[in-house]
Amino acid sequence: MSEKPRVAFFDFASCEGCQLQVVNLEEALLDVLALVDIVSFREAMKEHSDDYDIAIIEGSITRPIDVERIKKIREQASILITIGACAHLGGVQRLGNQWTPEENKAEVYERHPGSEITKGDDNPFFAQPRHRAVSEVVKVDATIPGCPIDSQEFAKVLIALLTGKKLPIPDYPVCVECKKNENICVFELGGFCMGPVARAGCGAPCPTHGGECEACRGYVDHPHTQAHAEVLKKYGLSPDEIMTKRTMYNYRDHEDKEEGSQ
Ligand code: SF4
Ligand code: SF4
Ligand code: SF4
Repeated sequence: MSEKPRVAFFDFASCEGCQLQVVNLEEALLDVLALVDIVSFREAMKEHSDDYDIAIIEGSITRPIDVERIKKIREQASILITIGACAHLGGVQRLGNQWTPEENKAEVYERHPGSEITKGDDNPFFAQPRHRAVSEVVKVDATIPGCPIDSQEFAKVLIALLTGKKLPIPDYPVCVECKKNENICVFELGGFCMGPVARAGCGAPCPTHGGECEACRGYVDHPHTQAHAEVLKKYGLSPDEIMTKRTMYNYRDHEDKEEGSQ
């Protein structure tokens, strides 16, 4: 019998794009497979086993049945890793926590005709639209941020975990990587950017390719959010627009934290 740790993938509320990044690992997959056996990965294989040591979780926790499921997974797994902004932060779907089920329903179905296929009072999304990060429900041992994750970073973090090394997730802002890429700052071009507070590690692809950073990897540990808000204001954003920029991936609603979790 193999003595390698057994890895299983699980998806909750997500687009499954982060699992796809793992499927796309290419050569780095060999380094990962040298250290683990993948026993369940719906996006990549038919075989399935509930006998696993490491659980890799994609997606936000939304419904009561999700809470039960993630707790059972946590009980079984000796290591639990989250992948992607949905699992790490609650994802962009967490924005819906700002509104009531009725308001969300009206937004989806009244403003976007053609979505009726899943309409109905029994739709669990609208009955319990409280998206949470996995770490707000169970203990998480490691997080690979991003939307989607970077497949090479996934491999590096998994290998570091299994070999007892420090996790290679930086705690400095995206601006550092952006400057290394010798980009002209988005602010100087008339745009807005979350780079000063966003956690680096992605290589700053968004400002490098003409976009803006939306902090999909979350914030650095000690972000200068007030100073950053002042910069956004200085460049002409209204308080509402500043809030929109800041909450795209990082909407925090601490009142929905489950009692006794962690
Ligand atoms: S983090 Fe982004 S890419 Fe990954 S599952 Fe969520 S929405 Fe999809
Ligand atoms: S474009 Fe964004 S990430 Fe790059 S230096 Fe300016 S604020 Fe920082
Ligand atoms: S530049 Fe910002 S939005 Fe783009 S991948 Fe990096 S953290 Fe995410």
